[in-house]
Amino acid sequence: MAQLILMPGKERSAMKQRHPWLFAGSVGRLEGRARPGDTVEVLADNLRPLGRAAYSPQSQIRARFWTFDADEPVDDAFFKRRIAAAVARRDALPELRGQDGVRLIHAESDGLPGVIADRYGDTVVVQLTSAGADKWRKAIVAGLVKSTGCARVYERSDSEVRALEGLEPTTGWLHGEAPTAPLAIMENGVRLAVDIAAGHKTGFYLDQRENRRLLGELAAGKDILNCFCYTGGFSLQALAGGAASVLSIDSSGPALAQARANLALNPQLPAERAEWQEADVFQALRDFRQAGRKFDLIVLDPPKFAPSAAHAERATRAYKDINVLGCRLLRPGGMLMTYSCSGGIGLELFQKIVAGAAHDAGRDARIVRRLAGAADHPVALNFPEGEYLKGLLVQVD
Ligand code: SAH
Repeated sequence: MAQLILMPGKERSAMKQRHPWLFAGSVGRLEGRARPGDTVEVLADNLRPLGRAAYSPQSQIRARFWTFDADEPVDDAFFKRRIAAAVARRDALPELRGQDGVRLIHAESDGLPGVIADRYGDTVVVQLTSAGADKWRKAIVAGLVKSTGCARVYERSDSEVRALEGLEPTTGWLHGEAPTAPLAIMENGVRLAVDIAAGHKTGFYLDQRENRRLLGELAAGKDILNCFCYTGGFSLQALAGGAASVLSIDSSGPALAQARANLALNPQLPAERAEWQEADVFQALRDFRQAGRKFDLIVLDPPKFAPSAAHAERATRAYKDINVLGCRLLRPGGMLMTYSCSGGIGLELFQKIVAGAAHDAGRDARIVRRLAGAADHPVALNFPEGEYLKGLLVQVD
């Protein structure tokens, strides 16, 4: 095994915080040969062993620790153990019991850097985003099949972050055969089709499951505007919760087509209360203001405006813009359910943006709930970067 020796003093984040990333600037030298994704032994400058990591020569994140135990072999059995532990963690959470759509592996936060696995019924979709994860594909699939008993595994490794690791996109069936019927899950009593081949992420935004349930609880009798609705997860939950009307907006025609199809999968829901609009949210919100249209509850769940801190300034303006407009369209006592899934925008900054937005809209407002990703998207305490989804439920006067 090759040895990766750190610069003086650069062992601290691994030793003190067990942070799983080693940036290029921390690395002193590589002794021996290692190809992308190979496991290397990591040593401090004084040659004290720190653990074993996946080497990624093309990435700024030069290595990701698999283990901080310098003697633990990284082999098939390692992946079997880590995957079994991740699955067992979900089994222990009561809110996940009986759910068909569950994130089983949340990468670094489950001790498996670069590995994402989502279960939709008896199909598991994996996304491998790092050179190390890519190398261990076979062991990861075997571990998933063993721990879940799932019938099939599909790979959806087409995220653009793979390019940073020098990896090509790759997709396809890795275990079992393509199902004959379209995939669908039940979420909080609502049926939703999931397009694992062409949908966003692995097909669906599982991270909003608990927040959709909250919307259902708040919805009765309300006029709701769901911005950035994608395939209608929030919209259908609002209808199930007894909303008076639900207007849903997205700029993607295919997403809206899927949202309509999802509504049709739920004949118990009052379809006549749903309206779908293909539009740019920024423009639509301005048009509603012009038209004097008002709502009781507005959901703002935009795409990642700031993938990294470098985009924070432009993203801040975009978040501010939609939140100002959202506040203006609320009736007195109305609520804004507003999110950011940008890693580059921290919770504190997001709260400031929303406070500024309420102020600019001339509305006094208070946070009634702080919102985050669902329990199957945990944030490991040694990996604060894992906290990407943050939200606020704000009530305006
Ligand atoms: N709330 C959704 C997930 C939202 S993902 C859910 O619960 O599943 C973000 C969505 O925003 C995508 O569907 C994308 O098509 C849409 N989108 C991106 N930019 C947009 C814009 N300017 N106006 C409207 N929709 C936009």
